[in-house]
Amino acid sequence: MRTLISNGTIVTSEGSSVADVLVEGETIALIGADLGGAGITADETIDASGKYVIPGAIDVHTHMELPFGGTFAKDTFETGTRAAAFGGTTTIVDFAVQSRGASLREGLDAWHAKAEGNAVADYGFHMIMSDVNEETLKEMDQLVAEGVPDFKLFTAYPGVFYSDDGAIFRAMQQTAKNGGLIMMHAENGIAIDIVANQTADSGMTDPYYHGVARYSIFEGEATNRVIRLAEAAGVPVYIVHLSSRDALNEVRAARDRGAMAFAETCPQYLFLSLEDMKNGFEGAKFVCSPPLRPKDHWDDLWTGLIKDDLQLVATDHCPFDFEGQKELGRGDFRKVPNGLPGVEDRVDLLHDGGVVGGRITRERWVELISTAPARLFGMYPRKGTVSVGADADLVVYDPNRRRTISAGTHHMDVDYSCYEGREVRGASDVVLSRGSVIVRNGEFTGKKGAGRFIKRSTADAARLA
Ligand SMILES: [Zn+2]
Repeated sequence: MRTLISNGTIVTSEGSSVADVLVEGETIALIGADLGGAGITADETIDASGKYVIPGAIDVHTHMELPFGGTFAKDTFETGTRAAAFGGTTTIVDFAVQSRGASLREGLDAWHAKAEGNAVADYGFHMIMSDVNEETLKEMDQLVAEGVPDFKLFTAYPGVFYSDDGAIFRAMQQTAKNGGLIMMHAENGIAIDIVANQTADSGMTDPYYHGVARYSIFEGEATNRVIRLAEAAGVPVYIVHLSSRDALNEVRAARDRGAMAFAETCPQYLFLSLEDMKNGFEGAKFVCSPPLRPKDHWDDLWTGLIKDDLQLVATDHCPFDFEGQKELGRGDFRKVPNGLPGVEDRVDLLHDGGVVGGRITRERWVELISTAPARLFGMYPRKGTVSVGADADLVVYDPNRRRTISAGTHHMDVDYSCYEGREVRGASDVVLSRGSVIVRNGEFTGKKGAGRFIKRSTADAARLA
């Protein structure tokens, strides 16, 4: 099967130019001006005049079917990757979970079983480590060899995912040997629980107080601490879902002194705020951790994205229905499942708020949603760029189409949208995953189970660049 994408403006992190792209089988075979005129034939031609042709977006932070607070995140690998594809995202990296007392292997096998035969587009895994001990430290080396080279630990959620400083440092010493990467959820969960309990005990139980109790200073403190531990171990560290200027200041200071500190932020921290958590129990729709911050953090985060103190934007997609799931926390914000839907909207929100909004160039937009994720997470140049030999994960993107985000039209399996009624400029028209068209003009044309596990490399050189 040969597909010719003609006359589009190819946008990569390096630059933009009008050219044709010839896809042969699963990969990009040729890029050049007027390939049709040069006698190149194809089974199908997609006219991309006036559109962008960008590398499929990569979301390195999703939680399909995550067990949390007595329930499960609602999207499966099938519904979640399909919704992602509608939004121009053709690869996700999800978090497999080690249950307390079980092995990393059991956790990873369980996540392979959830994804295999179900995902409609490609996927990889990071590993959430709940126990750090002699056995799991050895297992880390094996996982790195199997293409699962990242390990997420938490300074939050005492009694659940929480690791103390010794456990975190021990895991970092292991990645110093095996080339893996430690990813950190950096909030001081011990201190947060004290404030959260005092807040709830004094009768302030609405979801809004989830946001109030998780001080940004607790995020800044934990961010500094884990970066310092990583410097002591001599390894890179990656801060997930950075939400506040307090944490950003620590990442920037670390990078300025030459530390190997990296961080992502998420659309909810750029476009939503603590104000959204008001309105009684409706605020439960916006309960996630770290929480939404006051609006005055937004500009700092955008500056972080512009100056590369924040290297990419991921979603932390973790959807719970308002009805029946978020409602578990009625009367007690501590019991609201933490997480927001978002895998479908990231590319368009960043295009609208970033490129159309005049904050970033379209090339930086591609870098934040695709190229940097591919580089930092060991998939480049197979993914994350438009180049000969790369996987033909491509999006024909209309930068001028306007659409209104709504739960009534989105494809995520969740009963509300955090961005209900927001109009954005920019939308994916045609989405290819390894050469197959899986979304065309609002219709899904892919296949359940067509997604493959991506064995990722440690990409040391890229990570340190
Ligand atoms: Zn997460």
